[in-house]
Amino acid sequence: MSGPQSASTRCGRALRLLIGVVLLTSWAATAGPARAQNGTEDATQPTPADPESVIEVVATPAPVVVPTPGRPDDPLVHITQVGETLYTLAARSGFAASELAKRNRLTNPYLLLAGQTIRLPQPLSTNIHLHRVGAGDTLIGLAARYGVTPQHIRRANALACHTCLAFGQLVRIANAGLASGLPHPFWFIEVWPPVPRQGQVISVRVSATLPLSGIVGDLAGRPLRFAQKQDEYVALIGVPALLSPGVYPLTIQAVPQNGQASAVQGQVQIAAGRFGYERLNISAKLSTLLDPQVNQAEQETIEAVISQFSATQRWQGPLRWPIKSKILSYFGARRDFNGGTLYTYHSGIDLTARNGTPVRAAANGRVAALLDLPIRGKTVILDHGRGVFTLYCHLSEFAVELEQIVAADEVIGYSGNTGRSLGPHLHFELAVGGVQVDPLTWLEQALP
Ligand SMILES: [Zn+2]
Repeated sequence: MSGPQSASTRCGRALRLLIGVVLLTSWAATAGPARAQNGTEDATQPTPADPESVIEVVATPAPVVVPTPGRPDDPLVHITQVGETLYTLAARSGFAASELAKRNRLTNPYLLLAGQTIRLPQPLSTNIHLHRVGAGDTLIGLAARYGVTPQHIRRANALACHTCLAFGQLVRIANAGLASGLPHPFWFIEVWPPVPRQGQVISVRVSATLPLSGIVGDLAGRPLRFAQKQDEYVALIGVPALLSPGVYPLTIQAVPQNGQASAVQGQVQIAAGRFGYERLNISAKLSTLLDPQVNQAEQETIEAVISQFSATQRWQGPLRWPIKSKILSYFGARRDFNGGTLYTYHSGIDLTARNGTPVRAAANGRVAALLDLPIRGKTVILDHGRGVFTLYCHLSEFAVELEQIVAADEVIGYSGNTGRSLGPHLHFELAVGGVQVDPLTWLEQALP
């Protein structure tokens, strides 16, 4: 895990520090909504302060970063999934478990974590069997013949229904005759990304061999709430930006219709996010707002709203930018107010906006709250379903009413400078499963 990685990390840090110094001295480059400079995902680069803003951004080395596993397209690098053991991998790789343990220097071959990188001597067998549909073939018959489930064949062949097999059609049957290693009624469980970072969104996809009457779960002590998407059950949950990197328990319980409840337990490794550091000074007039209790009370007010759950997904595609302008400050930046008076992190992104700029809904949604908060000022919270919420803060004016249904791009308010703000701008947050996460990724791609 060290070696060449640490050399490149050192090099990267030096480079970032250098970039930071250059930006601080020139103030020239600007970060457009499309992406930071160089198109990288790395938010550690300090953003140049906007000339209209008094926010001071200080360059510092990035926090310690846990190395990411090997390239996802490398067939000799396997990222373990929940339910996999060294023995199921051994069976698919054609090598003994002891050989895999030795090659990967595993001290405890019985403890395989979801998201762990395993180097393989040869690619895993995908074991794909092609079957030409003949007279009398049915989905249930084929499933029984190859030891898989009907849903499995449907998914692998994008069949629209259970009776959609066409005579002469070639059907792909993967892992024919291979047990999934999960207890009944679980068919597969996928946690994505395999090693989530602080501030990212985790999706947990569950497929079952039978229709379920209920499914619940828990990740790192937070409830997983599932919504049905086609044949699968999908839960979304955010990783808190301040959650310590480490290994956390994952539990999923499923109740089949007319059946007995069954549970699986796994572990998910959480890695450190890549965040910057900002030193901010706010005036004596507003300094009472640095009271940690004010912060805490406000976070509780917000959590009461963003922890709600409605199973219907209202959003479509990536989120829209609420304002088309420049990014002043990124999510997750550790913030030091007035030289250590309050140490916190930035729970959203800041976008430049003159007073009175129309602020638009990032997606279809319902107005879940209209609040006037000490720190965030006038705030609109939209509920987009499946535990996804967006927040628009420091507004001068609301343009919607509570419980109103809004469409993406509809004006919901006007930007301002209310609350603990150092100048007019829009503070925009995304919350998933009751946790504030980095919205940038989801302004470019759709949430799963
Ligand atoms: Zn902000």
